[in-house]
Parts: sequence; structure tokens; C-alpha cells
Amino acid sequence: MKNNPLNLKGRIRDLQHFGEEGGVVPGIDLAVTSTFLDPQDMEKTFLGQKEGCYLYSRHSNPTVNMFSEKMAALENTEAALGVASGMAAISSVIEQIMPDEGGEIISSLTVYGGTYALFKNIYPRQGIKTNFVDITDLAAVEKAITPTTKIIYTETMSNPLLKLSPLVELSKLAKKHNLKLIVDNTFAPCLVTPADLGADVVIHSCTKFISGSSDMIAGAICGTRAFISSLIDVNTGVVMLKGPIMDSRSAHELYMRLDHLPIRVQAHSKSAFTLASNLEKNGIKVIYPGLKSHPQYSDYQKILNSEFGAGGMVAVEMESAEQAMQLAQALQNIKFGLYAVSLGFSRTLMTVPAVTTSSEISESDQKLMNLKKGLLRLSIGYVGQDDVMLERFMTAYNAITQAHQTSMSGWSYDI
Ligand code: PLP
Repeated sequence: MKNNPLNLKGRIRDLQHFGEEGGVVPGIDLAVTSTFLDPQDMEKTFLGQKEGCYLYSRHSNPTVNMFSEKMAALENTEAALGVASGMAAISSVIEQIMPDEGGEIISSLTVYGGTYALFKNIYPRQGIKTNFVDITDLAAVEKAITPTTKIIYTETMSNPLLKLSPLVELSKLAKKHNLKLIVDNTFAPCLVTPADLGADVVIHSCTKFISGSSDMIAGAICGTRAFISSLIDVNTGVVMLKGPIMDSRSAHELYMRLDHLPIRVQAHSKSAFTLASNLEKNGIKVIYPGLKSHPQYSDYQKILNSEFGAGGMVAVEMESAEQAMQLAQALQNIKFGLYAVSLGFSRTLMTVPAVTTSSEISESDQKLMNLKKGLLRLSIGYVGQDDVMLERFMTAYNAITQAHQTSMSGWSYDI
């Protein structure tokens, strides 16, 4: 954590970069390679004896650096690094911390399906074992630690169950056992600042809220200056040597979008809260961390940056995957949202995770994490009128549930 009295909006504001002629917007530095006036400087740069020279864009690029500085300002870390995707961020961090064959990760069971599959199916090939645990059960986490454990891995707000990780307690555990606490903050940018709560490394899939337009694949790694530098070390850096660096065009685009991320997150939260609280009033089973009925509501109040609300993610429990998909289809037909994976878009996106974005998670683990087949995940957008969206949701919901009640054998609805 950097000792900065400003909040994230202030930190982002104070970061200014100018165009070559003093423009209020910096240009994109497209060059992949840079000229050295003194050949000795190139040699020194390779040897790590000289800083501030740009060698090659897979190592560093001025535009990627600008974006990375803004990510560090958002997450209150010393440094950051833009990479090609959220998965590139996750795998680069794990492999940088675990360079030797072997070692163990303790991971929350309720992580994004791709992360689960990476840990479960790919890493054993490299001798890395993952123990999946209920991350809210601190005794279980501590019990899972072995002499070869190196990492505790979790998501601030889990995908798709919106369970909150006890970051302060996990960070104490990590410190006690000399482990690194890695936190994926993709679901909760602005809402929670994991580094302030003790996380060693914070990861983002920038494809989601940070992009905000569902038009780019990108990721970021935020941490200490020493860790970020290690990722681009010319001899041992996983990002430098495996190559998943961010392109400067993407970096520029995301650099600009970070200025309005806090406003967008507030707008997502407002619309999501309006929908979730009204669905609950109408007797619908809904999971949203901003509702008092959320099992961790009071824990959340302690760690959240309150001006941003509880975020844009809402989950609704239907009776079966079939019913959840029918509801999503009906909602799509009446322009409530789009049945599509991903999240953080300005418009509402919907999925049924058990059979889609979390289908990589085995049936038995889905049961263990209490992921119901009928869970409908909603990434609530802010485009549209909240009252109209609520009305549309209720129309579709009533049509689907009534059709199920009247005909258990067949299914039809009329909207
Ligand atoms: N982390 C979380 C929580 C995600 O939801 C996702 C993708 O859905 C990822 C990481 C992976 O990000 P990307 O698709 O940018 O590789």
C-alpha cells in the first residue's frame, strides 16, 4: 500500500500526461523499438544497469507505462503493468511467484471458471498443486497450508456467487505463513481497494468494468515496484519472456477510460441496487452485496469505499437452469439485456453460470460452492431507465414463472 492521503478519484486526477505539443491528451507511442544515441546505453539497459531507456515494447513502452501508472493510482499500489488479458495477468503472477517446479496454491473454490480450469488442469502439468477451499472459512484456509504453499488466491467478490473474501484476515494469515495474497479485483474496481487491506498483488481483467464497452481484451497486475519490475526482467520475467504484454493502442484507450471508471461504477451500482432491492421486495430470491439480506452485508460495509455503492453484479435464483435460460431469453426479447458472457458493459449482460461461464467447475465442486443450476448472473448496465428495466424484468419473470406453474410438462409464455 502506498502512503497516499488521496482517495482513488484524487489519485487518478493527479496523474497528468500531456501530448507532445502540450495537448491535454497524451499521444500513443507506437514504436516497438527505440534508437540509442550511445551504444553503451543499450548494453547497460540489457544488463539492468540503466533505467529510463525504452528497449523493446515487450519489455516496456511509454503508453503502456502511462496506463500502468493509472492502474497503480486506482489500486493504490507502487506500480502496475498492463498485460494482454485477465488470464495473462493471473498466469503471469502465479508463474513469477512459483518459478520452480512444484509448490502449492490455496485458492478460493468460488473463482472464475477459467481460473479454476487453469489451476486444476494446466498447473498440475508443471507440478503446481491447488487446494480449493471455502475462502471465508479461515480455519480451513490455515489447515490447507503446507510447507510448499506459496500463494493464497482469491477474488474480492466472487464470480458468480458474489461472496466476499475476508481480505484483512487472509492477509494476516498470508503474512504469518510467509505467503503471497493475490486478489482478483475484476468484479470490484473502485468498490474495494485490496492493497489497502493487505493484498500483495491485485489483478484485473480490464476486459470488464475497466474497459466498460465490451470491446477489448486486456488485463493488469498491480503490486510493489520490485514485483512489477521482476515481471519484465530480461532474464527471468514471465511477461517479458512469455510475451503477454499489453499493446500500446489498447493501453491508450484504457488510459482514457480510467478517468470515468469511478462515475461508471457509481452508475452501475445505482441501477443494480434499484433492481435488486425491488426484486427482493417482490419476493424474488436475489443475491446482491448491497442488500441487508446478503450474508456478508456487514463485512462488506467495513471494507467498501462507500461512495461507490455495491457494484453492478446481481444474481437471481431460479428453480432450474432451463427456467433461468428461459427468463434470460424473455428478458433479451424485451430489450432488458443481452444473453452474453462477460460483465462490466454499459448495457446489461446475462448468463447462467452453472452451464456456461462456470461450467469448467466440476459438478461436485459446484455443489460444494453452492452454485445452483438456476442461478442467473446479471451484470447490470446503466443505459436505460431503472423503472422501465424493473418493469420489464417483472413482466418476463411473471410470464416465465406462471408458465411453469400452469404447465410443468410444456412451456410457453406470451410477451
Ligand atoms: N477474472 C475474472 C473474475 C473474470 O470474470 C475473468 C473473465 O471472465 C477473468 C479473470 C479473465 O479475464 P480475461 O477474459 O480478460 O482473460
